Amino acid sequence: MGVVDTLGRPLRDLRISVTDRCNFRCVYCMPKEVFGRDYEFLPRAELLTFEEIERVARVLVSLGVHKLRLTGGEPLLRRELEVLVERLSSLGDVDLALTTNGAALAAKAQTLAEAGLDRVTVSLDSLDDEVFRAMNDVDFPVARVLAGIDAADAAGLSVKVNVVVKRGLNDGSILEVAERFRGTGHVVRFIEYMDVGATNGWRLDDVVPAAEIVRTLASEFPLEPVEAHYRGEVAERYRYRDGGGEIGVIASVTQPFCGDCTRLRLSADGKLFTCLFAVRGHDVRAVLRSGADDGELDDAIRRIWSGRSDRYSELRTAGTRELRKVEMSYIGG
Ligand code: SAM
Repeated sequence: MGVVDTLGRPLRDLRISVTDRCNFRCVYCMPKEVFGRDYEFLPRAELLTFEEIERVARVLVSLGVHKLRLTGGEPLLRRELEVLVERLSSLGDVDLALTTNGAALAAKAQTLAEAGLDRVTVSLDSLDDEVFRAMNDVDFPVARVLAGIDAADAAGLSVKVNVVVKRGLNDGSILEVAERFRGTGHVVRFIEYMDVGATNGWRLDDVVPAAEIVRTLASEFPLEPVEAHYRGEVAERYRYRDGGGEIGVIASVTQPFCGDCTRLRLSADGKLFTCLFAVRGHDVRAVLRSGADDGELDDAIRRIWSGRSDRYSELRTAGTRELRKVEMSYIGG
């Protein structure tokens, strides 16, 4: 039995953050000045176990969730992630995806595919090694991420590529990334730099609007729009007129899509968030660890979703920008 929120939005997708740690320090997400040596990440005992994650996911699948996405932090830092993948992939008719920075993908793609993973989204902000190293801020070479993408492809995983575009940093890389993946079947999605969290020093001037990204792409490769696959699809899609495949743009700043948002997020320490821009979550770990049965867990989750009324991106103002929002590395991108 499905559940809808106060604005009539059904619950369809679950993003599961398995860790708040990352081996990159992307300047727009986990700036080094904040996430330095002294930063206190979640202690191990606070993380949901794989059994607990599976329980929450199972209840959510029974409530109509069809898409599960593992994320973080960097999900491939969580030990034996393939064990969780195996458990989640056997929950029934689910589409199981992973968002990763790709650093460990060359080593893990085959195991993950064998465990039942369907798809990966790899974050790759530039093909220019110097720009890429400056953006991840740990001097990680782009070639290793490209090797990860190749390994995922060879393992039979469907691959998407995420590019966050920040003005003055990698807006010069848009065409090169598009060109690299044209004709490969890997869809590139260009994402507007968002005011998530409270530490990345976001300014509207740093956002390259999706319309500008599309104009840049179309100047080189003629494009035509593609109809959305389903309600709640985050990317606006375009296809290359010459048959080179598709690209997407995610315009959460300039064209918010809260009205179609069907996503719930589970943080690594077991809080459910109904919005990426939330200030606080609902503690489902407390419910799990209180000895509640699945019926009680189901009731708790239904209450959370049916009481939901958030639509942050549509209401974004100077005031909402000042809110102490949770970090994306914690809530799960
Ligand atoms: N570590 C994984 C990765 O790099 O893909 C998963 C977590 S990461 C938080 C998920 C996605 O969020 C990445 O594609 C990242 O580029 C994107 N992201 C992080 N901060 C962002 C921001 N301020 N605006 C837009 N996208 C952002």
